[in-house]
Amino acid sequence: MRRTAWLLILAVPFVAAIAAETPATIPPPLRAPGDQSEFRHVVLDNGLRVILFSNPKLNFSSVALAVDTGSLNDPVARPGLAHYLEHLLFLGTDKFPDTGEFDKYIQAAGGTNNAYTASDHTNYHLQISHAAFEGALERLSRFFIAPRFDADFCSREVTAIENEYQRHRDNDLARLEFVSNELYAPGSPDAHFSIGNRATLAGTPREEVIAFYKAHYSADHMALALCGPGDLDRLEALARRYFSEIPRRPVAPAEQPRIEYLPTKPALRLAQIVSAKDDPRLFLQFPVGPTRPIFAAKPIELLGALLSDGSAGSLLAQLKAENLALSINSELDDRAADHGAFYTTIHLTAKGRENMGRVLQLFFAYVRMLQASPYPLTTFREHAEFARRDEAFVDRGEGMELAANLVHSALQYPLEVSERVSYLWLTPDETAYRSVLGALQPDNLLAALLAPDAKADRKEKYYGFAYGYSEDSGALYAGLKQTTTEKIDFHLPDANPFATANTSVLAVEPVAIVDEPGLRMLYAQESDLARPQVAYRFYIRPGKPGFTAADAAQLALFQSVLKFSLQDLEADASAAGIQFSIEARSGLVLSVSGYSAATERFLEQLIQRMTQPSIDERGFSSVHEHALATLSSFPNSEAVEIGQARYRCLVERYSFFPTGLLEPTRRLTRQQVLETLPALFATAQVDGLACGNVSPSEAARIAHLLHDRLSTTAGTKAGILRPRYLNIAAGETIVDAATISGPNSFVQIVYRYPSDAPEYRAAAGLIGLFIGDDFFADLRTHQQLGYIVAANSIIDSPLLFTFSVVQSSEYPSDELRRRIEAYFGDLGRRWSEVTPEHFAQLREGLRAQLQTKPNKILERSEIYFQLANDFSEHWQQTAETLAALDRLTPERVGKIIAELLAPATRRVVVEQLTSTNHTVKTAPQPSFTDRDAWKAQRTW
Ligand SMILES: [Zn+2]
Repeated sequence: MRRTAWLLILAVPFVAAIAAETPATIPPPLRAPGDQSEFRHVVLDNGLRVILFSNPKLNFSSVALAVDTGSLNDPVARPGLAHYLEHLLFLGTDKFPDTGEFDKYIQAAGGTNNAYTASDHTNYHLQISHAAFEGALERLSRFFIAPRFDADFCSREVTAIENEYQRHRDNDLARLEFVSNELYAPGSPDAHFSIGNRATLAGTPREEVIAFYKAHYSADHMALALCGPGDLDRLEALARRYFSEIPRRPVAPAEQPRIEYLPTKPALRLAQIVSAKDDPRLFLQFPVGPTRPIFAAKPIELLGALLSDGSAGSLLAQLKAENLALSINSELDDRAADHGAFYTTIHLTAKGRENMGRVLQLFFAYVRMLQASPYPLTTFREHAEFARRDEAFVDRGEGMELAANLVHSALQYPLEVSERVSYLWLTPDETAYRSVLGALQPDNLLAALLAPDAKADRKEKYYGFAYGYSEDSGALYAGLKQTTTEKIDFHLPDANPFATANTSVLAVEPVAIVDEPGLRMLYAQESDLARPQVAYRFYIRPGKPGFTAADAAQLALFQSVLKFSLQDLEADASAAGIQFSIEARSGLVLSVSGYSAATERFLEQLIQRMTQPSIDERGFSSVHEHALATLSSFPNSEAVEIGQARYRCLVERYSFFPTGLLEPTRRLTRQQVLETLPALFATAQVDGLACGNVSPSEAARIAHLLHDRLSTTAGTKAGILRPRYLNIAAGETIVDAATISGPNSFVQIVYRYPSDAPEYRAAAGLIGLFIGDDFFADLRTHQQLGYIVAANSIIDSPLLFTFSVVQSSEYPSDELRRRIEAYFGDLGRRWSEVTPEHFAQLREGLRAQLQTKPNKILERSEIYFQLANDFSEHWQQTAETLAALDRLTPERVGKIIAELLAPATRRVVVEQLTSTNHTVKTAPQPSFTDRDAWKAQRTW
């Protein structure tokens, strides 16, 4: 991966090309009323497969290009080469030779781009304003026609890869992958080191990169996706104009021989991996053969649904009854056309951790029940029906994520149905199902425990973390192979109670439909989306003057208990398209969305369980110990996560650092947690919002139901707890410094604006767009400080600020801070050189961003909810920012930059974290030693 989004680590999908055949008859998709989406599939003369998607509602145009080469194609002697090549294509082409030009163009037009390298494909994608789309296509297409591979920048980019490699050191899933690789059959492609680092890539001759590129990057091994609002003819013309020139070349076969990565063995193979986080999980991986050709039968998905079901007679219900596990889920790791792995992940309790043998015994007993049972046709039909409905009504999303998903599918599945693949549950195929089920055998298993106290006797060779490995062919293994005499009531799930939802289809700025003491309900009917879906949100706030760490600990544990007690409904709700979340802030935030009628039915159950929670001592102690472990292992997180958490509890009055919640959490008893609502919310305010396909009377009924069940008394307006943020005086710089374990140092500098008046919001947006690519080009591409390097402005929060972050395994924190400050010291001068054309471009980019209206009901409800709660229902906020943007001049923005940075007027917060691997020359001067005492003296 080339970049990491701020606050968001994108998961790299492990997916990959035996041509799967399209089944002979496929029913046409259901269409939502008013849906104007259109698809077209074209193969260009050079063999490039193209999927085009048009929809006039798209806020962005987007493109993705994927090639069927990935890390499995690396030469044996050059691990990481495919990934390295992915980075190098961004560094200049024949028509656009300048290294930073691509990023600059994309970002100036309000766009973003990224790329990732998977096991058997590489995917490049971007999104951008419609006006700048053609320019972006011209630039991206040159990557695959005439890249420059400038020798100087190629060798510098190795540092970016080294940093990317280093940042996985404390990532537990990376540990699982690296240990698995080490245990796979030597010489098998899956045992390969895919990221690459300085040791494998430094000094790679330019010719070697070019030879690899020419051997693998051929038009007939690629797919292209274009998404835009214009008609399909225009999109097709763009694809032909810019991508026909990609050459078709003879492609080299894989260098590595086909070796089975995990041959069957009559023994229980168990790896024990010492994890960074205290969250014990048992991973079961079973090799499976090709799965793409049987996509229409969905055997993996069907089996996954059965294994994660929580209803009576399920594996999860039994594991929970014996207090062994908290949750279970299964998915395919689709590595290449001819093989993959079926993964099951089990979150263990402390008892489960001690009794892994019993967990495995139950797992295989359940699998044997499935083998002995008839094909689960009811479950298949339910999912087929959900999928058919989702294909019509679930929003496809947009932007580069949509383009990347479409191209991925177009590369690996029949082009003519590629956009429908994940929705097609066409043929209940018992043979395909039994074949995947047949792979779930003890002798075809590699089990791995990830836990901080795992039994280790060796070191992993790249990162050096500890793990152990054993092969047991004794009594335990024998026990897994045969049916026990013990009677366990395992059976196939009953019909899903949420399966029949009303999907018949029924104003935009929210209006208050309930406004009573203690309860306010807003309502927005989103008729333009024409989807039978609804989203509800509720913010329940205590009517008390303060909020302590003890309150926060109690509320957080109550939230975990509630989630635990809802698990039996979770799989059915999720299959029926219902999404929900329960967050503990300085109050409780509930969010539930899905198809109308089913959503209300689910909410009724949620409200009932929330107000009359039930959990036995055993369940409570599992949740309790898991919460304690999560809190106490937080300091082992990646530097960027620690930095962000420290920042939050610095600037938010009622936010607490995880380790500060440890003692209050430890003291909590089950009885106290069960009485959380009456204890913290005896007086309270409930603020709700319903958005989408629902009548006002139904929304009001749900609001009253919740409020009545809480049986609180209404507080006074002034007595309601509201979030409070740190005041920073003009000229003040607040420094929070710490030493942390882990390989990275981290610095974040935040410059706060004097207020969030519309003019400052518009200026902050422009400054964010201006520095986004400039800061990245300077501190990452040229100075090579690290992998996570970003700067931007946050303009949709009550705290308006411009931030910069750098995480580095190479440099100590004082050096990082010096370089960031040097960049900002020079920002006024850089801005003074902005040309009128560049300014106009930035303004267009920001305008496009502000005018974006999400096409998902859930996202719209988030925006309304935020405006309602953080901005006191100020619905005109965006319109005011746009008006202020029209009035801004480059000179006025220059003055605001000066005000932001001048010693007498600036308001700065510095997070400076130093890795124990690094030594600073200049010690930081922290503003406090005791954060809580310091916070108590501040104004908010
Ligand atoms: Zn990368």
